[in-house]
Amino acid sequence: MTRKPIEKGIFVFAETVNGTVTDVVFELLGKARELAAQLDVSVTAVMAGDGAFTPWKQLSAHGADYIVLVKNPALSQYLTLPCVRALAEAVRLCSPEIFLFGATPIGRDLAPRLSARLSTGLTADCTGLEIEDGSGHLLMTRPAFGGNLMATIICADHRPQMATVRPGVMVKQINEAAQDAQLTVLDVNIPDSDARVEILESASNPPARRSIREAKVLISGGRGMGSQKNFSQLERIADLLGGTIASSRAAVDIGWQTKDRQVGQTGQTVRPDVYIACGISGAIQHLAGMEESGFIVAINKDEAAPILGVADLGIIGDVMTVLPALEEALRAETVF
Ligand SMILES: Cc1cc2nc3c(=O)[nH]c(=O)nc-3n(C[C@H](O)[C@H](O)[C@H](O)COP(=O)(O)OP(=O)(O)OC[C@H]3O[C@@H](n4cnc5c(N)ncnc54)[C@H](O)[C@@H]3O)c2cc1C
Repeated sequence: MTRKPIEKGIFVFAETVNGTVTDVVFELLGKARELAAQLDVSVTAVMAGDGAFTPWKQLSAHGADYIVLVKNPALSQYLTLPCVRALAEAVRLCSPEIFLFGATPIGRDLAPRLSARLSTGLTADCTGLEIEDGSGHLLMTRPAFGGNLMATIICADHRPQMATVRPGVMVKQINEAAQDAQLTVLDVNIPDSDARVEILESASNPPARRSIREAKVLISGGRGMGSQKNFSQLERIADLLGGTIASSRAAVDIGWQTKDRQVGQTGQTVRPDVYIACGISGAIQHLAGMEESGFIVAINKDEAAPILGVADLGIIGDVMTVLPALEEALRAETVF
């Protein structure tokens, strides 16, 4: 099959951390493939680095027709200004219509600076991306006014149309038989004036608990759990189910859980096979982070709680009664 030209296509920033492409890149490539099919254009994964690592096969299998590696020794570690310069150069050469970034700490630092450098717009934290019939504009949908309504934004007059998308929102698509992406290496000049920051040392904190985005089963507690102590019940059930615990923002704000557990608009987007919401009302900002879960169980004493509207199984009752019974039943299952 003939490859569409690289120009006027869709760019996805291929962010890497410690030599590994972040998962959100594969999710964005999946979405980019869908959009590219509608626009009849190509998909390009754009990397900035010193050239030591090109995850060719992985990026091809997830949807990239091209890989543009913007290369300079100054790009061996992420620094804002050198990376902005590198990507601006790639944009100048290939004039993409659309440029997508993960809403990661790096994406959130880089994309706004790049959009300012390119004098174009940026829509942050999109939850939906579509192509408008007729105009071909990118429709960028995101929560607005505290998540109480969804706004669809277009960038009609400037290019590229830029958006960030949070990890877990889009779905990866893998095609192992995909043609190898074509690699273009672009050597850029990074002036000393861009090197305003020097990284002396970097360290990472290994997460104490399993990430809520990786677990297949999440048992999530809200204000209705009543106290921090009661979350130990959820820990025990999570262990029995091979999952981990999550929480609403209310439980984080009170101090019962740490921020890395928070599901929702200002927390993380999760898609486990099973999501068990315990004493969570189901505010729109919470639903935004979990409604794509495979099977949703809600335990709530209020039969009018909005969480029951998205639940596959609703249990109307007190968590302090339902959860011990659930734990007992699971232990009995484990024994036999
Ligand atoms: C800009 C913005 C961003 C936000 N981002 C997020 C976000 O990312 N994530 C998030 O979760 N929220 C977010 N929120 C907050 C959100 O609006 C809600 O306030 C929050 O989700 C409520 O948490 P909750 O359901 O635990 O508590 P509540 O709303 O207080 O609900 C508690 C629920 O527990 C039930 N309950 C009480 N006792 C029991 C019991 N003994 N047994 C069974 N059920 C019981 C009650 O019936 C109720 O339904 C955001 C808000 C704003 C404005």
